[in-house]
Amino acid sequence: MSTNEEHEMAAHTHDTIIVGAGVTGLTAAWRLTESGQDVVVLEARDRVGGRLRSEDHNGSPFEIGGQWVSPDQDALIDLLAELGLETYARHRSGDSLYVDRAGEAHRFAGEDLPVGELTAKEIDRVIGVLDALAAQMEPDRPWEHPQAAELDRTTFAQWLDAQTDDVEARDNIALYLGPAMLTKPTYAFSALTAVLMAASAGSFSHLVDADFILDRRVVGGLASVPAELAARLGDRVRLGADVTHVEWDASGATVTVDGVQLRAAHVVLALPPTHVRRIRITPELPAELRHAREHQSFGLVIKVQAEYDTPFWREAGLSGTGFAPYGLVHEVYDNTPADAATGTLVGFVSDLSADDLGRLGDEERRARVLASLASYFGERALAPRTYVESDWQHQELTGGAYATSFDVGSLTRYGAALHTPVGPIRFGSSDVAGLGFQHVDGAVRVGGRLAREILAAGEGA
Ligand SMILES: Cc1cc2nc3c(=O)[nH]c(=O)nc-3n(C[C@H](O)[C@H](O)[C@H](O)COP(=O)(O)OP(=O)(O)OC[C@H]3O[C@@H](n4cnc5c(N)ncnc54)[C@H](O)[C@@H]3O)c2cc1C
Repeated sequence: MSTNEEHEMAAHTHDTIIVGAGVTGLTAAWRLTESGQDVVVLEARDRVGGRLRSEDHNGSPFEIGGQWVSPDQDALIDLLAELGLETYARHRSGDSLYVDRAGEAHRFAGEDLPVGELTAKEIDRVIGVLDALAAQMEPDRPWEHPQAAELDRTTFAQWLDAQTDDVEARDNIALYLGPAMLTKPTYAFSALTAVLMAASAGSFSHLVDADFILDRRVVGGLASVPAELAARLGDRVRLGADVTHVEWDASGATVTVDGVQLRAAHVVLALPPTHVRRIRITPELPAELRHAREHQSFGLVIKVQAEYDTPFWREAGLSGTGFAPYGLVHEVYDNTPADAATGTLVGFVSDLSADDLGRLGDEERRARVLASLASYFGERALAPRTYVESDWQHQELTGGAYATSFDVGSLTRYGAALHTPVGPIRFGSSDVAGLGFQHVDGAVRVGGRLAREILAAGEGA
């Protein structure tokens, strides 16, 4: 940053300063700008998008973070239309695969896993119980669920144990919510958080239906959303601006970045709750609001993508979709971009398996992941032309994937506190969304809500 720019920053007072140029921050910034506010967005990284990022490898595009859009995500769908972005359906025609405990792959069509008849019935029954619990929840206020207290002090693993003695039914329901969604072991989050995850997508049935929840992709990648918002905001977005200090009083706040101070009537910390603590806030946050953020943590999943010369599984009548509750790569999908001649598989390695994988060297990690893909698709999966791993766990400004969630008992105790503003400072990210919880749709909703709150409060609140 030049001395002139620093001087200009120091001299300028804004209506609102947004910290963080993920979808939450950029949505809030764009809505406020449209309403005539003078806004500046400060982003620590040298790019916008936060947990959305596209990269080229070996001449092909890869989505490293979030990528899918589902039909319930109408806030995101509306924003895509507004930004002129188009979508295409994920490839899904053909049979799916289920790799059992013995490592044997079974083909199946439709949604019902190829498990024993009694297990299939148990899976359907427990899905029904979770659907009923989710239907009783208002996702913006999960702590008001009629069974909130009881569900929040029960781990999801305990809750599942109490539902059924059928181990394979339990393991498959656990897969949908643990490794595949919250990316934590099922004993590390509460049954209430599991119900929130379901309610945030409309129902638990939606979560278990890959054709619904992983329905469409954005032409050019989901990272086109923050890129388009940032293009509209122009030089209001400042990169490489790692905010270290926010000092507030009754008339506004002073934000310090690189030793330069900016002043505004409102500040939005559009960050995961874990990252609010990187910033020194004075006067300090009330104790309860600090504690609330100490009880949220990131899950961990490693997204792996393997690109082949052709989508060879399609020749065998396979869709590329597969599930392996006992495998390293617990779920896999065809991730070939709409216009590509090559074929790409995407898979996920979650929580404890991700810990184990992360301790290995590059070559061994790759070999283990490809061997797991071969357990679905055979030996041809062992020889991709390109292999890409997402690296969120190594990045201080994210630190995990997909998002943060409360530890057991804390959603009822602290959930509401994450939404409480402090003087001119408001907080938000996809991680505190109701509908769209932990998803880009939630980031759009939270960003829009924060902008509306600021406009309602008026300048100089
Ligand atoms: C591997 C992966 C796969 C996913 N898949 C999907 C999917 O398919 N569909 C879906 O909808 N969602 C998916 N998600 C989740 C989705 O990407 C996130 O929910 C969403 O992008 C979060 O947006 P956000 O703006 O709330 O937070 P973030 O994107 O985390 O943005 C926060 C921003 O704040 C910046 N920042 C932090 N501290 C400071 C500071 N002190 N000063 C300035 N800037 C700071 C960060 O650099 C970051 O840019 C996925 C996420 C990951 C990681």
